[in-house]
This record gives sequence, C-alpha cells and structure tokens, in this order.
Amino acid sequence: MAAYTDAHFNNEEAARATLERVLWPEGPVCPHCGVIGHAYARKRAGVYRCAEPECRKDFTVTMKTVMERSHIPLHKWLLAFHLFTASKKGFSAHQLHRTLGITYRSAWFMAHRVREAMRAGGLDPMGGEGKIVEADETYFGDVPEAKRRKSPQRGNRPYTKGGKRGPGGKRAIVSLVERGGNVRSFHVAVADSATVASIVNENVLRETRLQTDESRLYTKVGTKFAAHETVNHSAKEYARGDVTTNTVEGFFSIFKRGMKGVYQHCGEKHLHRYLAEYDFRFNHRVALGYNDGDRAALAVKNAAGKRLTYKGRH
Ligand SMILES: [Zn+2]
Repeated sequence: MAAYTDAHFNNEEAARATLERVLWPEGPVCPHCGVIGHAYARKRAGVYRCAEPECRKDFTVTMKTVMERSHIPLHKWLLAFHLFTASKKGFSAHQLHRTLGITYRSAWFMAHRVREAMRAGGLDPMGGEGKIVEADETYFGDVPEAKRRKSPQRGNRPYTKGGKRGPGGKRAIVSLVERGGNVRSFHVAVADSATVASIVNENVLRETRLQTDESRLYTKVGTKFAAHETVNHSAKEYARGDVTTNTVEGFFSIFKRGMKGVYQHCGEKHLHRYLAEYDFRFNHRVALGYNDGDRAALAVKNAAGKRLTYKGRH
C-alpha cells in the first residue's frame, strides 16, 4: 500500500483482492461460524459460501468489519486507511471529503470508522522487570460549563489540575508510555488520584519502574511498583539519569499540535477515538520498525471484528 496510483486505490477488483489477501492470509474466514479456508466463491464477485454443512451461509471480506454495509467503494476505504495511518498529524473529514470525492457526511463517518479500526484490541499489561513506564496527564479542549464535574472539597467549584490550579474546565487525558515501546491513552472525566491509580494499576506490571513528575496524583499508587521515580518540573528538572517524563510529554505535544491543526472541533464523546488514532501511529512509528504500508495493513486487519453501529447506511 504505497503510491496513490496503486491499483487497489483506484480499482474495485484490485481493492477487494488486496483486502482478501490482508484479512484472509489462509483463505476465506467465515464470520458466521469462524471456519478458515472452507468456503467456495459464488457467482457474484466477492461473495463466498461457507462449506461447513451446519453453516452454509454467504459472506464477504467486509462482513463484520468497520466497512460493512458501506456504500463507499473499497478502493476509497483502502485509500482512507492509508491516509490516516501515514499522515503524522492526522487527517480530517474535510480533507477526506475532498480527496475521495465523497460527501462530508460520508467522510465524517468513514473517518470515525477508520479510527475505530486503529483502536487497540485486547491489551497486554505494559512494562515489566527492568522496564520503565512514564505516566502523565494533560488537558485538551473545553468541557461545557454545565457538564463540569464539581469537587465537594472545593465548595462545589470545578475540579482543578492536581488539586492546585489550572484547567478544571478542560478535558483530561492520562497517558502511559513504555520507554522504547508503546503508548496507551485514556480520556477521563477527572484526572484525580483514584482515576489515575486505577489506570496505572490495570495497565502496568508491578515489576516496572514508574516515572512521573512531582504530581501528588501518583504518590500512593507509586508505592506498588518496583520503583516510583519523579522529576521535579516546578524546579525546572526534566531529566535525572534515566528518570524523565519527556517521552510521554513528547507524545502529548504531537497530539495537541495535530489536533489543533486538523481537528479543531472534536466532540468530547469522540475524544477517545482521536486518542486511539494518535496512539496507533505512535505505536507503529518508524523507530519501532514500521513503514506506511505496514501501518495501513495493520489498521485494515484491526478492522476485522469491529463495526460501529451508527444508525442508517452511509
Ligand atoms: Zn460458516
């Protein structure tokens, strides 16, 4: 999946063949009973019938994927997967609408489906013995006044960052990054110590060295790990030996620059999907040995077994 002139970005037959090759490396997979390589092609292109006697149902390569029941041709889907996974800062529904020559509405739905495909599935815990995981929180975009959660400790005024000052009316994001490895991001209602602790507990192995800034959010949960090392940002300390939160902060800055440039109007209920998109690109970055083609193929593979249930057909 490289140049836009590739056949599978322009021709429906070629696109279907590419999808079948990527999603079915060992032959057609029946989405009804799960059997692999036991189906025969029907007269209509792309339709297969399961050869299991107790199943015998028809299926296509897009069934039960984010591409199911879409009127958008497959070659446009493949191009969308390519554009979203290859562009560093992200790709907007407007750009997609213009590039693919589809309506803005279709482009918007398609963009969210591609993001859904980029969302990681079952996740193994991060870190381990001798490994470092950096944890940090950040804020992006406003929460409407009426929806802001109030803190009983603050006389029912909105929550603030770390209980001190700061963006109580912003959307909170918590990210974990394994040094030299993957990032995992969460949009949370409030980045308080209970929320942060449950995220760290559920995602990071106990043998890990946890590294954060001096925020008191991590003090208690930090005691459960092999080590909890901090840098003191308020004293302008950003690294001490191999202790730093520069990696997670670097990720936040890519996210914010991209979101500002491309997605000015991200509804809060969709923030987790944008985070999944940025996580996906970071986790398949060149430094980890991935190229654009690998990334697009992986997102397409992820598309299997995920389908957004927006009302209607698009
Ligand atoms: Zn079957």
